[in-house]
Amino acid sequence: MKKFFLILLVLMLCISSFACDKKDEPLTKQGFFFDTVINITVDEKDMPAAEAAFTLCHELENTFSRTKNGSELHKINNQDISSLSTDMKKVLEFAFSISEMTDGAFDVTVAPLTDLWDIKKRTVPPTKEELDTALVNVGYKKVSLQPFESGSSSIDLGAVAKGYAADCVAKLLKEKGVKHAIIDLGGNVALIGEYTVGITNPFDKDSLFARITLKDKSVVTSGAYQRYFEYEGKRYHHIIDPRTGMCADSGIASVTIISPSSMQADALSTAIFVLGQDSISLCKSFADTDAFIIMENGDIITTEGFDQKYKTEYFNQ
Ligand code: AMP
Ligand code: MG
Repeated sequence: MKKFFLILLVLMLCISSFACDKKDEPLTKQGFFFDTVINITVDEKDMPAAEAAFTLCHELENTFSRTKNGSELHKINNQDISSLSTDMKKVLEFAFSISEMTDGAFDVTVAPLTDLWDIKKRTVPPTKEELDTALVNVGYKKVSLQPFESGSSSIDLGAVAKGYAADCVAKLLKEKGVKHAIIDLGGNVALIGEYTVGITNPFDKDSLFARITLKDKSVVTSGAYQRYFEYEGKRYHHIIDPRTGMCADSGIASVTIISPSSMQADALSTAIFVLGQDSISLCKSFADTDAFIIMENGDIITTEGFDQKYKTEYFNQ
C-alpha cells in the first residue's frame, strides 16, 4: 500500500511538473515592423504582455518609419513638422551626441547617401558626381535640435531606432512583470533574464562564430555581410562612411556590442564599424558596455577582460 502511494506521489509530481513546464513553455510572437522581422519570445503566461509589446512597436513605427506616409520621421523629412515628440527628441539627441563623439562618422543625416546606395536594388556603385551631389546635404551640424530645424537635410534612423524600440519593449515587458524574454528586432536583441546568444560568422552567415551567455543585456551586431551587393569582385554594403559617401571600409567584418542599453549598442556598433578597431575605446564612455570585433583577416578584438566577464564559446578556431 505504501509503495502504491509512493508511485502515485511520483506520478502526481511528474504531471504537475509537466503542467508547469507546459504553462511556462516559451512562445514566440512574430511581426513585421521597422522594415524587418520582429520576434518576441516570452513564457506562455506572458503572451498578453507580448501582444502589448507589438502594439507599442506599431506606435513606434508611426514615429520612426522613414517610408510610412504620415509617420513623424516622414513629416520631418518633408519639412512638415514644427515640434518633435518625446521619443523622437530622445533618439535625435542621442544620435547627435554620438555624431559629436565620432566626429560625424556616425550621422543620421546620411539619408541622401543611403537613398543613393539603395543597397536592396543597386547592382553598380554610384558615380563620383552622384556621391558629391548627395554629400551636399549630409552633416549633422546642418540640423538644429532646439528649436528643431532640419532645412534640406534628410534623416535616416536605421542605425539607432530599432535599438531605442528594443529598450522601450524591454521596459514595457518588465513593467508587466515579465522575467524572461528575448526581444529580437531584426537582429537587434534585448534580453530579460539569462540566455546564450549566437554571434553570426561574418564569413559564412549561415553559421555561428561564437556563443555568449548574457543576462539582462542587449546585443547588437553591425556587419558587412548583412545587406550588400557585389560588383567587379568588390562588396558594397549598407553601412556608409558619411565623410566620403562610400561604404565603410575599416577592415572590420562585424562588430557586436553588448550593453544594458539597446540604443547605445545599436549606435555604437554602426559607429565602430565605420571608424575601425581603434574606436573600440568609445565603449569606455558607456557603463558596462563591451565590444567583440571580428576583423576581415579573422583577428578578434574585444574590450578588456571580455572573456573573463562573459562565458564565450568559439566555433571558428
Ligand atoms: P546598422 O545595421 O545598425 O549598423 O545600421 C545600418 C543602417 O543605418 C543603414 O541601413 C542606414 O540606414 C543607416 N546608416 C548607414 N551608415 C550610417 C552612418 N554612418 N551613420 C548613421 N547611420 C547610418
Ligand atoms: Mg546600429
